[in-house]
Amino acid sequence: MRSFIVRHIDSLGRIVLPKEWRDINNIDEKDSLEIHIKGNSVTIKKHEDSCVFCGNHTNLQLVNEKQVCKKCLEELTNSYKK
Ligand SMILES: [Zn+2]
Repeated sequence: MRSFIVRHIDSLGRIVLPKEWRDINNIDEKDSLEIHIKGNSVTIKKHEDSCVFCGNHTNLQLVNEKQVCKKCLEELTNSYKK
């Protein structure tokens, strides 16, 4: 699979992400995506609004670009200390 594709933007500003890419990145219908712009590059990534370990939506912290709740972060930190 190539690492890039060429897509035309439609009249409403939409593009289609190929199904194969959505499947690989675990992106499903209705998921939220983040669109980042840096210089002349646009990056799209899945928006994570819950803890990657327990699914909690509160007290989230970004750890290596993954959302982790305070409780799980404390458990990880404590198990690392043992
Ligand atoms: Zn958690």
